[in-house]
Amino acid sequence: MTATASRPGTGAQTPLPLDVEAIRADFPILSRTVRDGKRLVYLDSGATSQKPRQVLDAERWFYENVNAAPHRGAHQLAEEATGAYEDARAKIGAFIGAPETEIVFTRNTTEAINLVAYALSNAATAKEPEFRTYAVGQGDEIVVTEMEHHANLLPWQQLCERTGATLRWLGLTDDGRLDLSDLDTVVNERTKLVSVTQQSNILGTINPIAPIVERAHEVGALVMVDGAQSVPHQPVDVQALGADFLVFSGHKMLGPTGVGVLWGRYEVLDKLPPFLTGGSMIEVVRMEASTFMPPPQRFEAGVPMTAQVVGLGAAVDYLQALGMENVLAHEEALTAYALEELAEIPGVTVIGPADTVARGGAISFTVEGIHPHDVGQVLDDLGIAVRVGHHCAWPVVRRYGVPATTRATFYVHTGYDDIDALADGIRAAQKFFGTV
Ligand code: PLP
Repeated sequence: MTATASRPGTGAQTPLPLDVEAIRADFPILSRTVRDGKRLVYLDSGATSQKPRQVLDAERWFYENVNAAPHRGAHQLAEEATGAYEDARAKIGAFIGAPETEIVFTRNTTEAINLVAYALSNAATAKEPEFRTYAVGQGDEIVVTEMEHHANLLPWQQLCERTGATLRWLGLTDDGRLDLSDLDTVVNERTKLVSVTQQSNILGTINPIAPIVERAHEVGALVMVDGAQSVPHQPVDVQALGADFLVFSGHKMLGPTGVGVLWGRYEVLDKLPPFLTGGSMIEVVRMEASTFMPPPQRFEAGVPMTAQVVGLGAAVDYLQALGMENVLAHEEALTAYALEELAEIPGVTVIGPADTVARGGAISFTVEGIHPHDVGQVLDDLGIAVRVGHHCAWPVVRRYGVPATTRATFYVHTGYDDIDALADGIRAAQKFFGTV
């Protein structure tokens, strides 16, 4: 990799599309210090993102002015809470090009995936014939990839255990890409659903969704896209994506914890039985049996995470004001710079694509002779927050023959100074452990 160095030993600093200093001023937590007065260098947005004041204000506004349970009660607060909740649903839907009827709120990506996995096994025993449309059973196959976060692997393993279906997967290439060479055999007439991440949380790889959707639909299978790491970082439009489900988490896109999204094509959602049952998802309840509301209410049992949904609406406003194309370009520039910086440090190996082609800003690496946990500890002492471990993608670290990695992830407030701090911190770790 050649670098047009702006100063000796560094990568090329192309102008960043986002105004990092102005953005940092919106994030109260970034003004605190850590580890004896050091600036917080937050490179763990892939685990959870920090929240701008606008999101915190929206949640506070809801609790201070509106707080009530939506879709219940006839008083003014209940009416306003319902309005705030539904307005946010419409806004979040528009953010991914979907009508509000196709947006189901869940706790996070994990719950959204489990919702569909349980709906597919509940379908086998559903009384209503149309709820059995997508039932999964013995002889059926579910397809994932070796790149998945545990959240997009274990629910499918469990579905297969419950139903007798078989789990199959697409493998990875040595350079951190999805191996699609056996797509046509792995995805076949027995396949009921393919679930694939759009952007890997550990390798940074951005996967080609179109050929997977095309093959899956050719054999009549549903497609779920795990957008936990894509929706926060690049423009995603469900109409262009062509899949049947998209799942993502609010807390990874500047929003609050406790709210996630399941987008589903309406005609598919409409034929799925519920996962959780209880209040607010029913049409008629009798002691003997009950009937359910249409989507999305059918999948939102109980009083929902209303303030969090309102907060997620504010996060969407914030991201839209920045422009998702700019967010993407910002992270591409940072990723290119970081890859160049890391390539210049002897002993550092990036696990994942070495260039910026179809690659997001999650950079996992190993440092020769130093355990990732020790790298993380030295970085933490310097005020730099990274993630270490298997990143809930254990099969991936196993595939690449490493016990764990250190991972840096970027977001809208990340600047070149954060990456310089990371590179200097890695050199400090090498000095500390005497590996250079
Ligand atoms: N999928 C991917 C790709 C992720 O990176 C994560 C979290 O890191 C998840 C799913 C699970 O997200 P959550 O923990 O918010 O449910």
